[in-house]
Amino acid sequence: MIAGILKEKNGETRVSLTPEVVKQLQQMSVTVLVEQDAGAKAFYNDDAYVEAGAVITSQSEILSRADIIFTLQPPATDQLSALKGKILIGVFQPLYHINEVEQWATSKLTTFSLDAVPRTTRAQSMDVLSSQASIAGYKAVLLAAYTYSRYFPMLMTAAGSIAPAKILILGAGVAGLQAIATARRLGAVVEVFDTRPAVKEEVMSLGAKFVEVAGAADASQAGGYAVEQSENYKQLQQQRIAESIIKADIVITTAQIPGKPAPILVPTEMIEKMRAGSVIIDLAAGTGGNTSLTRNNETVSFKGVTIIGDSNLPASMPADASKLYAKNVFNFLKLILNKEGNLHLNFEDDIVKGACITHDGQIVNERIKSMLQ
Ligand code: NAD
Repeated sequence: MIAGILKEKNGETRVSLTPEVVKQLQQMSVTVLVEQDAGAKAFYNDDAYVEAGAVITSQSEILSRADIIFTLQPPATDQLSALKGKILIGVFQPLYHINEVEQWATSKLTTFSLDAVPRTTRAQSMDVLSSQASIAGYKAVLLAAYTYSRYFPMLMTAAGSIAPAKILILGAGVAGLQAIATARRLGAVVEVFDTRPAVKEEVMSLGAKFVEVAGAADASQAGGYAVEQSENYKQLQQQRIAESIIKADIVITTAQIPGKPAPILVPTEMIEKMRAGSVIIDLAAGTGGNTSLTRNNETVSFKGVTIIGDSNLPASMPADASKLYAKNVFNFLKLILNKEGNLHLNFEDDIVKGACITHDGQIVNERIKSMLQ
C-alpha cells in the first residue's frame, strides 16, 4: 500500500498527517510519499518526514503512484482524472458540495470525508469535527480578548477597579463548551444559549449560566445535532438573546445545522444596541453566519461593534490542529487497513459506512442520497 500526503492550497496551514503518524504507518508496512513542504506551514518540515521514513516527492508522482491520498480539502477538478480508482481521505463537507460529490462518483473516486463520521462513543477518537471545533472555541475567546479594548478579568487596582467582561455564547457544542472553559479561565462572566436542554449541566459545571428558552424542537433523532426551530421558538429565543446581548461585551456564536445555512440569531437591530467596543466572533461564518452582518473570513465594523467571521480558526493553530487531526485519521485508518497495511473495506461497520461518500462510481452516503431525492 502506498499512501500520499498532499500539500494543502488556498491558505490552509494544516497538514493531514504528521511525521509521528507517518512512523506508525511505516510500522504497518505502508510506504508514505509526502509532497514537498506539505507540513511546512504547520512546522513539520520535510526532514522530520524523511526521518519518520517517508519519501519527499512531487504532487504529480503522488497522484500517479499512491493508492490512498490524504488532503484536508476537496480535490480540485483538474485532479479528478488522476485520482480515478484511488481512495481519498479528508474533510470535504459533502453536504455543502453536492455537485462536486456527483463528479467524484462519476470520476470513480472512493472518498471518505471524516466530518461525516457518526457522533458515537466508538467514533470519538476519529471525530475531526470535535478535535478542530475545540481549537476554534479556544481561539475564538483569545481572538475576542485580543480585539476587545478592555480587560476580561475583574481587577481591583490602586488606580481603580475593573468589572469582568460579560460574554454571551450561542451554541454549546464542542466549540461553545471550549469557549466557555477558556473565557472562564480568563475571568469573564459567561452566559450561554443552546436549543438542546441536555447541555445545561455541562454549561453549569464549567461555571457559566445557562439561559433556557422553553419549546425547542425535539432533536433526539438527529444524531445529537440541532434541528431547525419553529417560528414561535425563534421569536422567543430572539427576545431572550436581545435581553442578554445588551449587557454583553463579547458574543461568540457557534450555532450550525448540518447541511443547512446557519440560523440568524443576532440580527442587525440587536447589534445596534450593543455598546461600542463590543466584539462578536462568529464561528458559523462558513455556513452563512449567525449574525446578519457576518462576512466569512472578514472583519466588519458596525457602529463601534467588531464582527469577526472566521470559519477556519483551527488553521491559526496549525501545529496542534494537524497533530490532533492526524491522530483522528490514523484511528480511522485502523478501521480500513489490516495489520499488514492492506485495504480492507467493511461497509457493515457504521463508521466506515457513515464516512464513505462515493465508491464504485456511486454516491453511497445515505444522508447525501436523501438530500438528492
Ligand atoms: P454544531 O457545531 O453542529 O453546533 C453547535 C451548537 O449550536 C450545538 O450545540 C447546537 O445545539 C447549537 N445550536 C444549533 N442551532 C441553534 C440555535 N438556533 N440556537 C442556539 N444554539 C443552536 O455542534 P457540535 O459541536 O458539532 O456537536 C453536535 C452534537 O454532537 C452534540 O450533541 C454533541 O454533544 C455531539 N457530539 C458527539 C460526539 C461523540 O460522541 N463522538 C463528539 C462530539 C459531539
